[in-house]
Amino acid sequence: MRPLTVIGNWKMNGSLASNASWVKTVCRGMEQGMPAGRKYAVCVPTPYLAQCGELIHDCSLAFLSMGAQDVSAFASGAYTGEVAASMLKELACTYVIVGHSERRQYFQETDEQVAEKALQVLDNGMIPVICVGESADERNSGREVEVVRGQISKQVAILQDRLADCLIAYEPIWAIGTGKVASAQLAQEMHRAIRLQLAEFDEDVASHVGILYGGSVKPDNAVELFAMPDIDGGLIGGASLSPQDFLAICQA
Ligand code: 13P
Repeated sequence: MRPLTVIGNWKMNGSLASNASWVKTVCRGMEQGMPAGRKYAVCVPTPYLAQCGELIHDCSLAFLSMGAQDVSAFASGAYTGEVAASMLKELACTYVIVGHSERRQYFQETDEQVAEKALQVLDNGMIPVICVGESADERNSGREVEVVRGQISKQVAILQDRLADCLIAYEPIWAIGTGKVASAQLAQEMHRAIRLQLAEFDEDVASHVGILYGGSVKPDNAVELFAMPDIDGGLIGGASLSPQDFLAICQA
């Protein structure tokens, strides 16, 4: 069985003071009891990994783990400004988001780079969260399955059966930060298409890979989304900034 996984993505938000209060509130909330067998994490901006790692470590029941939002495709060396996967591992990251649509859009990341980043994450014993998803134009022209298939096929070609140790996040770009959540049925159809494509490569990989949904997930739509057979959790942007909303989604 694939565990339900809820991962917050703060994006470029936070401050030393607000992070401390967020972790305290979420830890206290989680200590009141959480549904069994689920996994929870928050992906924070790189400069806050050390702070949040310590705060989360101090949270006694250790329900929550931490992740980063990006990583270098290179292991080490003369790459000014880049952050290596080994560094994220040292700071106690469990997950690393790779290929978020914002990185593809604003920083021209390609599918090949995304797969190279995922390999770095895997080589350092962490779990890559590989993001895919179509734009509004691509969906309006009926190309959503073709676009997502193209993104997944590059990952399959490079990662092969190491994909079994990854998470995939289906995040339709038109639903990110817009309040236009994909209906549970629409999201389920896309998740099913992704799983069937993975099964064409390897049925075992397809049955193991967790596929998270991302895009305007809120406390009031999470229950319906998470109930779908091929939706194995969520990647939560805006709503993860509020500790109360994040907790509510974790409990959905
Ligand atoms: P929102 O939840 O703000 O739509 O963002 C989704 C997302 O991009 C998570 O990575």
